[in-house]
Amino acid sequence: MELARSLALLDGVPESMQELHDEYESRRSEIEELEEEHQQAELERRAAEAESAAGKESVERYQEQTSRVTTQREYGALLSEIDTVRAQMREADERALLALERQDQATTRLDELRGAFESLDAQYQEALAAWEEQKPAMRERTEVLKGRIEVFRERLPPATLNQYQRLFERHGGAPLAVIRVIESAKAPIRHCSFCNYRIRPQVVLQIQTQGALVPCDSCQRILYLDDGETD
Ligand SMILES: [Zn+2]
Repeated sequence: MELARSLALLDGVPESMQELHDEYESRRSEIEELEEEHQQAELERRAAEAESAAGKESVERYQEQTSRVTTQREYGALLSEIDTVRAQMREADERALLALERQDQATTRLDELRGAFESLDAQYQEALAAWEEQKPAMRERTEVLKGRIEVFRERLPPATLNQYQRLFERHGGAPLAVIRVIESAKAPIRHCSFCNYRIRPQVVLQIQTQGALVPCDSCQRILYLDDGETD
């Protein structure tokens, strides 16, 4: 359980800097979203500007053609084409302007956010560096734990190891429960420390005298006696 906890911690940040970490991540993603919005607006603006420029070329081409047409009908058709393209250009220009406005708004907001982010970022990097310094010792500790687990695996009978493994998986890494003793006037009363279920004296005796692996009748965790009672 300690190994699982340590490995999870090495993958993340300690509880003491969780709040700072969340704040940092939320501010950073806010900035990233705005950067995306800025980029998107720029792409839209460029596309609209290109559309407008293409329209302008079309209009110039049509205007050239007007000097060569021979009939009134052809001339009228060209003028109508020019009108259509001009309307499309106006629409594209409007879109370009709106996109430019969005881009400007994003820039202003980004400047604000980046300014406010600076001190948070510095604080976060400092905390992160301090945490990095602690990691080597923690990594060493996980190696020690892995070694100890390996030794236990080799020493335990396969059936017991299997039983332990099944319980470990079923209970999310808490397969054992210590027996809690409550002293009373007559005989001490014993409970499973995990689910509080009463444990029969016979079970305690089995554990004490035979080292039996007896599961709790209620939560099925393997019961054990605290040091001093197992001998
Ligand atoms: Zn129990």
